[in-house]
Amino acid sequence: MKATAAVLVADRTFDFRELAVPDAPPAGGAILQVEGCGMCGSDIEQYKGGTAKAGIGAFPVIPGHEILGRIHSLDADGARRWGVAEGDRVAVHGVAPCGVCPSCMNGSKCVDAFYYGFRSLNDRSGLWGGYGSYMEVEPRTRLYRIAEDLSVEDALLFNPFAAGFDWVIRLGKLQVGETVLILGGGQRGLASVLAAKDAGASQIIVTGLQRDAFKLEIALQFGATHTLIAEETDIAVAIADLTSGRGVDLVIDTTPNAFQPVTDAIKAVRNGGRIVLGGIKGHKDMPEFPIDELLMKQIEMIGALSSSHWGVQQAIRLVEEKRYPVHLMHTHSVPIEGVERAIQTLAGEVPGDPALHISIIHKH
Ligand SMILES: [Zn+2]
Ligand SMILES: [Zn+2]
Repeated sequence: MKATAAVLVADRTFDFRELAVPDAPPAGGAILQVEGCGMCGSDIEQYKGGTAKAGIGAFPVIPGHEILGRIHSLDADGARRWGVAEGDRVAVHGVAPCGVCPSCMNGSKCVDAFYYGFRSLNDRSGLWGGYGSYMEVEPRTRLYRIAEDLSVEDALLFNPFAAGFDWVIRLGKLQVGETVLILGGGQRGLASVLAAKDAGASQIIVTGLQRDAFKLEIALQFGATHTLIAEETDIAVAIADLTSGRGVDLVIDTTPNAFQPVTDAIKAVRNGGRIVLGGIKGHKDMPEFPIDELLMKQIEMIGALSSSHWGVQQAIRLVEEKRYPVHLMHTHSVPIEGVERAIQTLAGEVPGDPALHISIIHKH
């Protein structure tokens, strides 16, 4: 049996290949028939060569770390540990931690994790990413059964939505009735809106750029109470107005490559409030940081990376409950042959074609 895969062989260079699928699953693991794969900023970074330069994975590689599929084969040990059977539909956590290093044991970032979508094509079958139509699943992988009645596109939202729950609830500790400011209206921003709504926030205020007006419309449909256009608004003043001068309880920054939102967060949060930083700033340092304001206000500031087991569970629950119009997130569904243009679209390199959530769908 062969898998069809988009192999990233160098920066901005895909090669489409047919690769042999192992006859048997790895010991304690499984072979997955990949239904679809989502994408995010990490796919863009990888495509441009940024992650390889940073030492995360190297070419050639089959990318794709937001994976949905069906168990094609697995051995008795895998079946027993995961509680799944051949034919089951599962979401795959893209990070496979070792489970036993000191970091794993205290619940932080594993020192020996491997990352689906970043493992070398030269390692065994090479089928380690969701841009391939089949994939090997290692025993240490976290798998989640997911409802059959969801579209591939809806099911794939488990990945961005997981981050929303982690950032707003697990790290941001949002309580019922609290107010939250979400900076940025992309996938992670909208996921944060859903998590905040689901947890009973009283005010959910979302910022976006002028060109993101359609995303702010979706934010309102997901439960946001106010939206603000960043270029037209002094965020700190607007938040003071909306909260009777008190400031919000929690701020979530999801904006990439921008420092102003970090300053806005410190100004907009209440005394003793919390800020979760989830927007990567391109490995650049912030030139001016209002540290005195941070400590005078006794602000708690937390860095967020990826999502936890708990976040994925909550995201799957939310999608399966069908209480929110999550399909509004979908802007593009493409076959694997269209992956390169899809990445460029997500990166904003295709004029006149704004993207929010893109699904790659494999044919079987
Ligand atoms: Zn991702
Ligand atoms: Zn570990």
